[in-house]
Amino acid sequence: MQGQKRALVCGAGGFIGSHLVNRLKGEGFWVRGVDLKYPEFSGTTADDFVIGDLRDPHVCRDVVDRRFDEVYQLAADMGGAGFVFTGENDSAIMHNSASINLNVLEACRGRNTRRIFYSSSACIYPLYNQLDPDNPKCSEDSAYPAAPDSDYGWEKLFSERLYLAYQRNNGMEVHIARYHNIFGPEGTWTGGREKSPAAMCRKVAQTPDGGEIEVWGDGKQTRSFLYIDECLEGSTRLMRSGFSGPVNIGSEEMVTIDQLAGLAMSIAGKKLSIRHVPGPLGVRGRNSDNKMIWEKLGWRPSQPLRKGLEITYRWIEEQLAQAKK
Ligand code: NAD
Repeated sequence: MQGQKRALVCGAGGFIGSHLVNRLKGEGFWVRGVDLKYPEFSGTTADDFVIGDLRDPHVCRDVVDRRFDEVYQLAADMGGAGFVFTGENDSAIMHNSASINLNVLEACRGRNTRRIFYSSSACIYPLYNQLDPDNPKCSEDSAYPAAPDSDYGWEKLFSERLYLAYQRNNGMEVHIARYHNIFGPEGTWTGGREKSPAAMCRKVAQTPDGGEIEVWGDGKQTRSFLYIDECLEGSTRLMRSGFSGPVNIGSEEMVTIDQLAGLAMSIAGKKLSIRHVPGPLGVRGRNSDNKMIWEKLGWRPSQPLRKGLEITYRWIEEQLAQAKK
């Protein structure tokens, strides 16, 4: 259609990417998605969906075959604590994600793409500012001196700099978000790459009332969690603003992991006991700091954690019911 805006979503088969494709379609975009796989839980709404490996520069050049109005680069080799913090996947994470970012940027430069969004992570923040669970520091300017606690975080930090360098030297307009624990329906909920909200909902849904669930660590580690719809709202607002970031996109409603478990139990209407077991943990405390996003975009997330967790819990319950059939 003439005049229709065009968007490219890299990582469109993943959790955030597949939701983003739906959103952009709803806004009237022509959308091309690219990923190693189709979305796991429902069909894609993209106009064109390319199965391709973005580590390959030829694939990147093929998918960036025109000037897109908006390019969202979400593809990464990633997962929850069980994938990122064990150390077993570090070389794959660094090699795969860095290759994707190097290739996508170069392909976009070749096509004079102006506007490109990159999803960085709260995992870039230094370990030394996140030792106190009640008082973590994650303001954007606290990223340096750099000391992320994982190679996943180091790759994200490198890639932030890569995007900013392309902006500086190649006339591109980049927009960088540091996401803080995004969750919602159609996110990975089992298999080892799932994040804590989904894992907690699954454990609670699988356990009969009065039973026991396992929680990694002492349960006092803190995090905040952002529902997918607010993540997309923040991402598209950032993309269309005059602000490059990096900026936090996260919730400021910090809870302990035990409180998260308690919330899932209360949604389920169950009373379960918690057994704390050793497991990969990540930093001791983390919370979004939303001063900058509020100042630059006049918007910040506001939905209570419980609301998004209710929707996610019901969705995971359904998945479990279907898996039993
Ligand atoms: P996801 O794993 O569901 O999606 C990433 C997608 O990238 C997957 O579908 C995967 O197949 C695809 N991919 C990986 N390697 C590829 C390759 N070589 N070629 C093509 N596609 C490839 O993850 P998500 O939760 O949707 O996260 C999206 C982005 O946001 C990622 O960059 C992630 O690091 C970042 N992020 C997410 C969170 C979160 O809480 N979900 C937090 C911080 C940052």
